[in-house]
Amino acid sequence: MFDDSYIELSKDALSNNLQFIQSLLPEGCKFSSVVKGNAYGHGVELFVPLAEECGIDHFAVFSADEAWDVHQMKEESSDLMVMGMIEGDALEWAVMNGVEVWIFEPHRLHEVVRITGKYKRTARIHLEIETGMHRNGLEEEAFDEVIDLLLKNARYIEVAGFCTHFAGAESISNHYRIEQQKLSYDRALRYFTAAGVQVERRHQACSAGVIRYPETCLDMARVGIMQYGFFPNREIRIQYTALNMDNMNPLSRIISWKSSVMAVKQVERGEFVGYGNSFQAGEAMVIATVPVGYWHGYSRSMSNLGKVLIRGHRAQVTGVVNMNMLSVDVTHIQNIQKGDEVVLIGNQDEEEITVGSFSDYSDQVNYELLTRLPGNIPRVLV
Ligand SMILES: *Cc1c(COP(=O)(O)O)cnc(C)c1O
Repeated sequence: MFDDSYIELSKDALSNNLQFIQSLLPEGCKFSSVVKGNAYGHGVELFVPLAEECGIDHFAVFSADEAWDVHQMKEESSDLMVMGMIEGDALEWAVMNGVEVWIFEPHRLHEVVRITGKYKRTARIHLEIETGMHRNGLEEEAFDEVIDLLLKNARYIEVAGFCTHFAGAESISNHYRIEQQKLSYDRALRYFTAAGVQVERRHQACSAGVIRYPETCLDMARVGIMQYGFFPNREIRIQYTALNMDNMNPLSRIISWKSSVMAVKQVERGEFVGYGNSFQAGEAMVIATVPVGYWHGYSRSMSNLGKVLIRGHRAQVTGVVNMNMLSVDVTHIQNIQKGDEVVLIGNQDEEEITVGSFSDYSDQVNYELLTRLPGNIPRVLV
């Protein structure tokens, strides 16, 4: 209602990113748009319908809680898949609403079988195979039990997917491990198909997989970070650039984050700014306060390091980032006024603050920065 800051999403940027990613996917490979973590902080409410306008009709979330939200805003014809946490009543809700769920232990499959029997409804499941990530995934010992359940209940259970997740496809140091995971997945798939289990879609790849291991795209790719306009890390960006001999970034940032100057103050040489003494004015200075702090997702580790844009100039965070505000040095900016636009992420005139710059100053990766943007910051479409 009375907003301290707001987030803008660009439809053009999204449409550009989706087209780029589609161009990398092999013929017949489905694009599953990963919208966990409130669409990586972009806000599912705005993002999901926007993605649908751009042709997306399959979404992936982590939990039942997230699925509940996305289910409210997606088109009925779009599919939705829960890759992680879902138990009890939520599982029943999912089956009754056609929400697909990952099965990584026999227990959940027994539950799904019970629910489908009770309501005579068909459930769509994805079998997540343990291939070396050692997080979630069906262990080999459980294969026979799962196959038996599937064959006995084939009427009510559709195996929508056969999948696994790589343990860090974005880093070359994991290459051997990923290759082993691929082999292990293939073995498991042969085992299930030989036993008569019919699998609709095989899927493994996340964003990094699409770039580094294109052969793993198979029938579906689960793409998160790249659709929002970011390579998973610098290594993948470099790999893409090297392969394509072209230094143009094919991805565009969708998100911008903006606030405004709350107050302006003169500070004399030798005075300290903010809590404690981490910043001392080396000269007479002008300081502006901005009503954004770590509560809003602006990390405290950006104290004395972060940069914002005001009137087309960079202004440096001075002193520590507070819970609800931060101070910036605007000594060099002419005519600064209360109410001037402050760009925390995004462009202003010729200047830009990138999401990547946050990881240059702190060990926050883009995934973390984005998902820590609170859900209650208003999102607007541009
Ligand atoms: C988050 C996630 C993805 C998407 O990862 P990106 O690196 O954002 O593309 C894919 N699969 C699973 C299982 C995930 O948890």
